[in-house]
Amino acid sequence: MSDMEMKVSIPLDDDGYLRRECPLCLKQFKILLTKEEKGDFVNKAINSYMVKDEKIESGDDNDLEHTCPYCGQKAHSDGWWTQEQAEFFRTIAENMAADIVNETLVKAIKGMSNDLFKVDANEMEKKEVWMHPEINDMVVFNLDCCERKIKIEDEWNGTVYCFFCGFPHEK
Ligand SMILES: [Zn+2]
Ligand SMILES: [Zn+2]
Repeated sequence: MSDMEMKVSIPLDDDGYLRRECPLCLKQFKILLTKEEKGDFVNKAINSYMVKDEKIESGDDNDLEHTCPYCGQKAHSDGWWTQEQAEFFRTIAENMAADIVNETLVKAIKGMSNDLFKVDANEMEKKEVWMHPEINDMVVFNLDCCERKIKIEDEWNGTVYCFFCGFPHEK
């Protein structure tokens, strides 16, 4: 159980798109991830909950900003999780922390017990990790600027900004 490599997969729709939510206008859209990004995303998300106390200084990594397709505002690449995704990763991070405590601290405390001296420690409980399956909504929009695809709300008639480079596409 010391193996910390966890296979975590986040629900994608049938076409492989990941749901995202703008932290500013709260509208949702989806992006098609590359293979490398898929693995990366999950690890980064979990890490961002594991190292809560180390605040990432803004300004250091401006190149990691993304643009909202609807409102055109920029936000750091960690800021685009939906509420449910954020909760999902938080729970995984908490379970990993519980594993560490149970495997090391609780064992060590229990190991101090002998006939004369009884110590007990309760193991930390783990929560169930679950997320709704992704539904197949929204329509594909081609971002020719970056040769990437996103899905946006069917009824959106305004400018679509590229999530990756910020280029405004008139619809
Ligand atoms: Zn927005
Ligand atoms: Zn672009």
